[in-house]
Amino acid sequence: MYDVIVAGAGPAGSTCARLCAKQGLRTLLLDKDRFPRSKTCAGAVSEQALMYLDFPLPHWVIERECFGARLSLGDRTMEVRKDRRVAVVVSRERFDCFLLEKTRESGAEIREEEKVLSVSQNSGSVQVETEKAAYQARYLVGADGVNSRTALAVRPPFRRSDLTTALVRPVEEPADNGERTIDCLLEMRLGFAPMEYGGVLPRNGNTSAGNRGPVKISSRSSEMPGEFVRPIRMEAAVYLGHLIPLGGIKRRIAHKRVILTGDAAGFADPFSGEGISYAILSGRFAGQAIAKIVTGQKEAAAALAWYEQQAEYWICRNLRAALSMARLVDRFPLLSARIFFDDREPLAKYLDIAAGQIDYRRFLRWMMLRAPFYFFRNSYRRAAEAQAKRYQDRGTE
Ligand SMILES: Cc1cc2nc3c(=O)[nH]c(=O)nc-3n(C[C@H](O)[C@H](O)[C@H](O)COP(=O)(O)OP(=O)(O)OC[C@H]3O[C@@H](n4cnc5c(N)ncnc54)[C@H](O)[C@@H]3O)c2cc1C
Repeated sequence: MYDVIVAGAGPAGSTCARLCAKQGLRTLLLDKDRFPRSKTCAGAVSEQALMYLDFPLPHWVIERECFGARLSLGDRTMEVRKDRRVAVVVSRERFDCFLLEKTRESGAEIREEEKVLSVSQNSGSVQVETEKAAYQARYLVGADGVNSRTALAVRPPFRRSDLTTALVRPVEEPADNGERTIDCLLEMRLGFAPMEYGGVLPRNGNTSAGNRGPVKISSRSSEMPGEFVRPIRMEAAVYLGHLIPLGGIKRRIAHKRVILTGDAAGFADPFSGEGISYAILSGRFAGQAIAKIVTGQKEAAAALAWYEQQAEYWICRNLRAALSMARLVDRFPLLSARIFFDDREPLAKYLDIAAGQIDYRRFLRWMMLRAPFYFFRNSYRRAAEAQAKRYQDRGTE
């Protein structure tokens, strides 16, 4: 019998399994795919996420380093460059493979191409059935992503309203004619539909033959892709829908002998779609909680409660604030656009979240204090400009 089985070898599962194995736990990590496997993702790993890893990423995993962001709405853009890095862009194939190798080095047993089909729990153990075999462990960590099977042992399946759809298509980088839209800035485009945005991330290597860089669009409307790609001179073509859980909604994340992490737990940013940092952090907490039980430092119930508390304090509160922000932007799109496009400061401050310097709660508090000031100052500026123009027009008549 294993001490722990981890289902899914993405950032959450690899992190958790590595931590458990390092503490001497008999650890089995299962994944339905063979690595390196492709993973649809824009590949932006925030500086915050890098801080949660307890080892540096080698250069061959990092494709670009981002020091700022460009926000666009129609023909308006706002660009901010910071003096420190806010994120790196990776190929998920290589990134996930690198994390998996780290897990292998720690002594965890890894079985690829073993899809978890069902989970059952009794008072002393948990049984996991895969396509090839059946396993038993004291605890199971569900890290099998948004369509998690293991999560069904903890909570009901996600409803449609619990999810965001990302429409994705690989694109070729446009020829460099001096108007490049893809460089080392994180790119976000607003204004397709409520609570939705699109992003283009800079990439170095090819994601698949002849293609460079993914386009990511969150959209409920089939009209949106064309609208989105037009400004960057790319044709709307075949889009694939991918699901991202809507973070910030209260859900059960642990039950008896099963703990959920990452996307399986619903930990993804409802404003930006970012989920890698929460996957790594929740994987760490889950590994620590199980190690506490197995090494006898904590009773099972206390360790699971500890996991829920850590997740609440470091992840869920932040995601709830992100959801409030997404809803505010949705409710007051013009006001939000004015705040973000009339001044550099709000976008610069927002990037501090990715840089790991503040969280959404602090950002929202900061915005609440400054938003009225920005709004009135910019309204005054616009009125003054309009009046100056009227005088000028009269003078030329
Ligand atoms: C289009 C798109 C773009 C995104 N862009 C970004 C971004 O730029 N930055 C960012 O931070 N986040 C981004 N995200 C979110 C991010 O991809 C996820 O939040 C993150 O990958 C979650 O990690 P995870 O380990 O929980 O799950 P995953 O990375 O999804 O890993 C789950 C693993 O479980 C395996 N698995 C699934 N089912 C089973 C099963 N039944 N049995 C065994 N194994 C199984 C899968 O093969 C996979 O390896 C994006 C998401 C999408 C859809």
